[in-house]
Amino acid sequence: MKKWLENIRRVEPYVPGEQPKDTDVIKLNTNENPYPPAPQVLEAAKSMDMNLLKLYPDPAASKLVDALAEAHGVGSAQIFPGVGSDDVLSMIFLTFFNSDKPVLFPDITYSFYSVWASVYGIPYECPALDSDFRIRAEDYYRENGGVVIANPNAPTSIYEGLDFIEDILRHNEDSVVVVDEAYIDFAGGPSAIELLPEYENLIVVRTFSKSRSMAGLRIGYAVAGEELIRALNDVKYSVNSYTLNKPAIELGAAAVKSTEYYEEITRRVVATRERAAKELAELGFECLPSGTNFLFAKHRTVPGERIFKELRDAGIYVRHFDAPRIDDYLRITVGTDEQMDKLTAFLKKYA
Ligand code: PMP
Repeated sequence: MKKWLENIRRVEPYVPGEQPKDTDVIKLNTNENPYPPAPQVLEAAKSMDMNLLKLYPDPAASKLVDALAEAHGVGSAQIFPGVGSDDVLSMIFLTFFNSDKPVLFPDITYSFYSVWASVYGIPYECPALDSDFRIRAEDYYRENGGVVIANPNAPTSIYEGLDFIEDILRHNEDSVVVVDEAYIDFAGGPSAIELLPEYENLIVVRTFSKSRSMAGLRIGYAVAGEELIRALNDVKYSVNSYTLNKPAIELGAAAVKSTEYYEEITRRVVATRERAAKELAELGFECLPSGTNFLFAKHRTVPGERIFKELRDAGIYVRHFDAPRIDDYLRITVGTDEQMDKLTAFLKKYA
């Protein structure tokens, strides 16, 4: 028989949100930004010399790394770039979680964390969020092989202040603590990057996929002390040296320099979010307080799965998780005002 079948590494893969072929749908299912990248990015794209694609890219992605270092007021040796924050987080799991003790992250959080832990054979445990879907800092006071906190958390959308993050750091001096800030620009509060000078075991992860409108280019990065970044680079150069492609390096650097534009579209997304949350409440939905570019909402009486399917049939895509405690919730990306108006117009039938 096919003996080699026995040697295959079996994994339960992460299931990404649907990317429909039909561009007519209202796509509110994968937390992309409804606005285009900055004009400077589009200009840089036009002036790129495509002949240079015959060459390998700079393995260190220095142009992008230097721009990010300057923007965050840290040294270039404190930035680790990757192909989306998924790549950065995957490298973090592989590099830092090399212990017999379990890595800790909440039971309801970004579902890729458990997939990386499984594929790399890392033990992990998932303390339960409280009944308001908040992370309990005390659950992270025990011995562990590492801690991963998404702040704001996903899919709950809830942001915790820096005191909360610092509480976890103070109780975890012997572990690497990862703070995944994919949605921080929408939170209206400070980033854990401020805590880096005090905590050598802290690593903060960011992405260009949400507030920088560049999900299609795949850029993410980590900011940390030099020692952690050096360790990440050693593992990266042992797997694949040329991670970011030339367009990503060029256009990513242009995006970092377009602060005003991105602040403006972030303000717009936040204003639309607040308006949509109010309208959803009037239609019988409860939304968790959001510090992100999405709303996590549940109807008072109608099951989430039914609304999800009926929305989909109407060409409005949102995300539904068939998981304990959250199967009545919908994760709704904040689109343009016009898109949100179409969504709320449809949802009136459940009011
Ligand atoms: N972290 C969180 C909490 C996310 O929701 C996402 C988006 N799916 C990511 C990381 C990964 O984003 P990307 O790979 O596009 O940077």
